[in-house]
Amino acid sequence: MASKRDYYEVLGVNKNATEDELKKAYRKLAKKYHPDANPDNKAEAEAKFKEVNEAYETLSDPQKRRMYDQFGPDGPQGFNGAGGPFGGGNGYYSYTSSGFDGFGDFGDLGDIFSSFFGGGFGGKTNRKQSGPRKGADLNLHLDITFEESFLGVEKEIVITRNETCSTCHGTGAKPGTNPMKCPNCKGTGQIKQVQNTILGQVQTTRTCPECHGTGEIIKEPCENCRGKGTVRKQPKIRVRIPAGIDNDQTVVLRGEGDPGEKGGPNGDLYITVRIKRHSIFTRKGNNVLCDIPITITQATLGGELEIPMVDGTKERYKIPEGTQTGTKFTIRNKGFKSVNSSSVGDFVFTVVVQTPKKLSKEQRELLVELAKTMNEQPPVKKRGFFG
Ligand SMILES: [Zn+2]
Ligand SMILES: [Zn+2]
Repeated sequence: MASKRDYYEVLGVNKNATEDELKKAYRKLAKKYHPDANPDNKAEAEAKFKEVNEAYETLSDPQKRRMYDQFGPDGPQGFNGAGGPFGGGNGYYSYTSSGFDGFGDFGDLGDIFSSFFGGGFGGKTNRKQSGPRKGADLNLHLDITFEESFLGVEKEIVITRNETCSTCHGTGAKPGTNPMKCPNCKGTGQIKQVQNTILGQVQTTRTCPECHGTGEIIKEPCENCRGKGTVRKQPKIRVRIPAGIDNDQTVVLRGEGDPGEKGGPNGDLYITVRIKRHSIFTRKGNNVLCDIPITITQATLGGELEIPMVDGTKERYKIPEGTQTGTKFTIRNKGFKSVNSSSVGDFVFTVVVQTPKKLSKEQRELLVELAKTMNEQPPVKKRGFFG
């Protein structure tokens, strides 16, 4: 597949665009590229239209947008499962099937699209379908430690989801019996009605009241699931959290959501990571930040420090004589790995000179001797205490 254009670029907005800006840009472009508005170059317009729809579909959904910003158009790679987070389904793009006619008569595109995409533009469809349907996606939070986010971790979590009933294999019918095709709608799940109006005959469609849109009637329901075809389960799931993951980033486990219906694919499991605060380290981008206390003599004479790393090892680092409090030092490539590139952050520590509060008699005498050799108080503005 050809690499996709950036969704923000497709809509001509910047990365910080608000929902309103996105909507405006989308409406303008959807109108411009609608195939019916471009009879001379329909194919090209259709491709553009599709691209614009796809971009908007992703960016208008806060979670998908976050995923897109995090992983780019191809989605998370190698986290457990193939494909991007937005592939799959594609149920929203169906403008050819719902009898859209005319364009200029409508004041508001929102109305057009709501009729256009079956009442649920933007991914949610209220209409029940009798065909295969993707199972519901599940969302949950997972708390991990700073070290776990640094090194990556594998966790076993317990989730609650629906699973296909093993007694009836999801049909909802008692073993040995089969669901019947609904006689009322002949299995379509919908009832068509023709009404005579001033404007002529209008055909309307509504959900079949007998089967509630499923197209099937279960005479003898399965006892295990009471005819639902699914049962609540609490399976244990192993999740691999990649090294470098940041707070609020999401790992997707394809197919670990609720089961699909009528042979549709399972939903996905979205796990959003929350990282606990660390007592000494903080994170900024992919850099690790840390304050390191030093003594007045280390600051004055210089010295070799032992710096604790996030992975539990220690690095030796020489600071020069005359180091001022607040000075930052950088140990390269000892920060976080990037989740979606090969770059690695740095470890940046800030030295904080500790003024001694208790001295031994001997130390005190030495300092008094030292003080005699120095000005009582350095002039204002000149930096430093001893220099
Ligand atoms: Zn069952
Ligand atoms: Zn029916």
